[in-house]
Amino acid sequence: MRVAVFSTKRYDRDHLQEAVGGRHQLVFLESRLDAQTAELAHGCEAACLFVNDDGSAAVLDNLAGVGVRFLVLRSTGFNHVDIERADELGIRVARVPRYSPHAVAEHAVALILALDRRIHRAYARVREGNFSLEGLLGFDLHLRTVGIVGTGAIGVAVAQILRGFGCRLLAYDLHPNPACVAIGVEYVDLDRLFGESDVITLHCPLTPDTHHLIDEGALRSMREGVMIINTSRGGLIDTRAVIEGLKTGRVGHLGLDVYEEEGDLFFEDLSDRVIVDDVFSRLLTFPNVIVTGHQAFFTKNALDQIAATTAANLDSFEDGSSCDNELQWRDLQAH
Ligand code: NAD
Repeated sequence: MRVAVFSTKRYDRDHLQEAVGGRHQLVFLESRLDAQTAELAHGCEAACLFVNDDGSAAVLDNLAGVGVRFLVLRSTGFNHVDIERADELGIRVARVPRYSPHAVAEHAVALILALDRRIHRAYARVREGNFSLEGLLGFDLHLRTVGIVGTGAIGVAVAQILRGFGCRLLAYDLHPNPACVAIGVEYVDLDRLFGESDVITLHCPLTPDTHHLIDEGALRSMREGVMIINTSRGGLIDTRAVIEGLKTGRVGHLGLDVYEEEGDLFFEDLSDRVIVDDVFSRLLTFPNVIVTGHQAFFTKNALDQIAATTAANLDSFEDGSSCDNELQWRDLQAH
């Protein structure tokens, strides 16, 4: 099958080519998928998308128009694809439901530790010959309360790591995970989680229900100086509200691997350009904020698994066999 691979970087090319071998013809495109670039998939039966490719209805219409019948997502999250429209167009969609949840969980914990112990500031200071400890005071994670929102594959991995630090763990999920209960995680409602947590880390998907889960009202119910970590999707947080929270001190630390308007920024080298997003630029001015550019997934183990699952999804679609990783509109509605 001929596959248009959008948003390709060198690392995608290497891993995907190795996993696919000679079974499919991969057309590597650096462009992000949008209504204009969809026509680059002309002559391809499948399109392969990453997190900031636009899979909205209008773009899917264009892809269908040039003959695309299959979408394979190189991600777990699928909030960027209109699955209902894909279903109407007869386009089958598959994702990578699991790939090293540890990669993302470990990155979330790395953000917690770096913010707590001011590693980003210490690194810069020591290189300038400044060995003062003023402003670097942290806190023990031991016995601190951490609230985990979403305890699927990544959330439970975070819980397991933080258990080792001796944290008190609270969680909120629509479907509590027995693996979390088994290690002593206490499920509570969202209000209690917000009210009692020193650290809040987000691991639920972005859906209409979770959009701006952390907004002005939620921030008001949190502890003064709370640390907020988001490695899930940018839209979970109302960034403007969090900036106000940082200004008043309500938010003591913020660690982001995702940002609601990241599509025009992340995965590109913009170091020669002026960043025109003032909200994002404001975030970067705070000493107690660390932003990474959607790199939580980025380990060799994860890239190998993403490529292997994507190749298997393409094989299933070509064979006409059932695909375990397919996203069916009717199943999503049933949930
Ligand atoms: P998962 O499907 O295993 O777990 C998600 C959990 O969220 C489930 O337990 C589900 O019940 C819960 N959930 C759903 N709606 C909820 C709601 N309204 N409130 C609370 N909980 C809710 O997914 P995962 O593999 O753990 O991934 C979680 C998210 O992490 C993905 O949706 C994706 O957006 C993000 N992610 C980010 C990166 C990155 O590089 N930064 C990489 C992979 C995944």
